Amino acid sequence: MQLNNLKVPAEQVSFLQAVRQGLGQQQGLFFPSSWPKLDIEHLLSLPLVQRSAEILSALIGDELSPQQVHQMVAQAFTFPAPLVAVNEQVHCLELFHGPTLAFKDFGGRFMAQALAQAQQQQHTTIVTATSGDTGAAVAHAFFKQPGVQVVILYPKGKISMLQEKLFTTLGENITTVAVEGDFDQCQALVKQVFDHKALVAEFNINSANSINISRLFAQICYYFEAMAQVPVDKRSEVVIAVPSGNFGNLTAGLIAKALGLPIKRLVAATNLNDTVPRYWLNGEWQPKDTRATLSNAMDVSAPNNWPRVEALLAQGVISRSDIEATMVDEDDTQVGMRLLAQEGYLSEPHAAVAYKALKRSLQPGEFGIFLGTAHPAKFKEQVENILGNPIALPAILAKCAAEPGLNLEIPADFSALEHVIRQTAAQ
Ligand SMILES: *Cc1c(COP(=O)(O)O)cnc(C)c1O
Repeated sequence: MQLNNLKVPAEQVSFLQAVRQGLGQQQGLFFPSSWPKLDIEHLLSLPLVQRSAEILSALIGDELSPQQVHQMVAQAFTFPAPLVAVNEQVHCLELFHGPTLAFKDFGGRFMAQALAQAQQQQHTTIVTATSGDTGAAVAHAFFKQPGVQVVILYPKGKISMLQEKLFTTLGENITTVAVEGDFDQCQALVKQVFDHKALVAEFNINSANSINISRLFAQICYYFEAMAQVPVDKRSEVVIAVPSGNFGNLTAGLIAKALGLPIKRLVAATNLNDTVPRYWLNGEWQPKDTRATLSNAMDVSAPNNWPRVEALLAQGVISRSDIEATMVDEDDTQVGMRLLAQEGYLSEPHAAVAYKALKRSLQPGEFGIFLGTAHPAKFKEQVENILGNPIALPAILAKCAAEPGLNLEIPADFSALEHVIRQTAAQ
């Protein structure tokens, strides 16, 4: 498969080159300009790993053999994604049964496999920014992998204590850096790293954000897994609400639809950081300052993946009416969690944003799915405050909660980050 740089269309790369580079010239995103034809009915009859291997193999093309892709998927997707009924019309696709209890495990673990295939040099430094959950998924996927150093930036004080503990307690080849600033500033620092060609070359630096095409491709697979669990007579009525921050998840859903999966429409649900819902309404792209919310992993005001959504629209493989965009404020997020609790379903703020957006959108006869992107225990404090009941910690969280965080702290300043990268690589 050939991928084009969306900013510099003349720059064309293969899948493995795109995985290696992360971003193209002028910080352009890599994206395919055409899509394979898939046999949807056949795919929906398969189990998760086999189906995902076939989808990814079709996307990647002959650069990797179907056997190689199957092996990568089998190592990455080692946990299920069950569709759980809240009531007759509303369902949650639970994407948080992986090792770090968030959907980022799908992308992070497949990317680790893809990078291992793409690697030409022996040593790599991965520099990535996290709004909360990517950090843990990437850290766990690369923990103790020989030749790989990982540097993870996150906004200091703006993620939950347990999210933080899940990746700052690992040590070894995982360096974690609390940045005085918000996620957008962390993301801007990572982009600055990639602009520094000499540094990138010296340390063979790679990115692991949702901008890396391998993560995005991996996420397409669970939309198929959702549909495979929908009763056959309801498959033309499926509406999926996606809690959105950087819009990788939504982009993956739109690609699934472009590939022929019969999703009726996707609802992009944001918190108060509503650049996309406002843009969808008035056509003006006007990011504001990022605001801290209950759904902190979605506190993104300049979503990086949006040019890919525009590319799908420009290609004509999706249309404007396939997307709804809604903002759910803090009060409504809490209302969503309480409503779900009344239905007997324990949730957390990100999923609740999607649930509320889904409720606004659903019409009679439709089959609603919202994505459960994180385990409620990852947001133990907020969830207990809102619902008033204590919740138990899964073993992995209980373990890391008791360990000290090993993170560094820096200002939102490139030279401070460069210093960290040099020190890390020297280890
Ligand atoms: C990252 C994240 C999101 C947002 O996903 P995007 O692909 O960045 O839009 C939503 N919920 C949780 C729990 C997350 O970690």
